[in-house]
Amino acid sequence: MRITEKMKSLKEYIPNVDDCKIKLDANENPFPMDEDIKKEVLSAVEKCGLSRYPDPMSKDVCESYAKVMGVKESQVVAGCGSDELIGIITGFLLNKGDRVLVFEPDFSMYAFYSFLHELDIISVPKEQGIAFDADFVIKSIERFDPKMVLFSNPCNPTGGAIKSEQVKKILERTQAMVVLDEAYMEFFGDSLVPDINEYENLIILRTMSKAYGFAGGRVGFAAAREEIIREIKKAKSPFNLTKLSQAAACAILKHANKYKAQVDALTVLTRETYARLKEIEKKHPGKVTVFESSANFIYIKCARSQEIFEKLRDMSILIRAYPDGYLRVSTGLKEENDAFLDAFDAILKETGL
Ligand SMILES: *Cc1c(COP(=O)(O)O)cnc(C)c1O
Repeated sequence: MRITEKMKSLKEYIPNVDDCKIKLDANENPFPMDEDIKKEVLSAVEKCGLSRYPDPMSKDVCESYAKVMGVKESQVVAGCGSDELIGIITGFLLNKGDRVLVFEPDFSMYAFYSFLHELDIISVPKEQGIAFDADFVIKSIERFDPKMVLFSNPCNPTGGAIKSEQVKKILERTQAMVVLDEAYMEFFGDSLVPDINEYENLIILRTMSKAYGFAGGRVGFAAAREEIIREIKKAKSPFNLTKLSQAAACAILKHANKYKAQVDALTVLTRETYARLKEIEKKHPGKVTVFESSANFIYIKCARSQEIFEKLRDMSILIRAYPDGYLRVSTGLKEENDAFLDAFDAILKETGL
């Protein structure tokens, strides 16, 4: 095989696969599935008929999700995770060499797929590490004149969020396609989905991997005006969602209200973790900085972050480490958060920070 420059310049993406007892690295919903919902999921799965291909358009799933979101089924397309949709949006709605604007830090998949599709990626560092507002985005768009801009709101990994009014300001000031990733919007509750008809340059991404506790099922959505959704549907792989995941997703979405209660519980737990982290921050001035979060995880700037990450992992507590001195910890169950906080506190003391 001929190894091309393109192949050489892409490093392998290795997700965390450590078998730790406490898993606070991927922002998943930590609650076990409700027993009644589980029964419905299993009974739906049982009826699947796996010798036949699934519905290529995942019509029932899209209908259920559209209902939850208060939009029309024709304004929604389902993907094998929102990851697949990021791939289609960057690969099909743009041409090779087109400029895309992303920010740093943000979700790494935007740059990953843009690279695969040979786009011209401009990655703008957020001012002071994580500050992010409409004016900053507008200024960056004016400076670089991209065809597309992608960002997450609330932001993974910083936990920062901007109000829908601010996002509208961005949309009104640019012709560029704005891909607004609302993977954690259930936790912030200021979605732009109700406004999709107002904007010809807006695509919203949503997922069942976080609030809906269905990361293993791989179901994500794009919501936008019908003419945009029609184009995305053209480019997706024909049978992108399995019958199993379609059946399970429909059963789960019937109980959207139960997930609202979990979101509220996780929001309280995140606040508690934040408060305790702030106390730890006070004990290590200048060494630990904890950022406020509008999602179900917390971003921490920390001296010797890699070492601390590894010590936690040795204690079977898995969080996420970033190369530039930051950590991100997902909100888990109360006892998981406490185990992390106690260990983090002890490690910092022992490290002499
Ligand atoms: C987790 C996450 C997703 C979800 O990806 P799926 O492929 O739907 O599991 C999308 N965007 C962001 C910012 C995320 O953190």
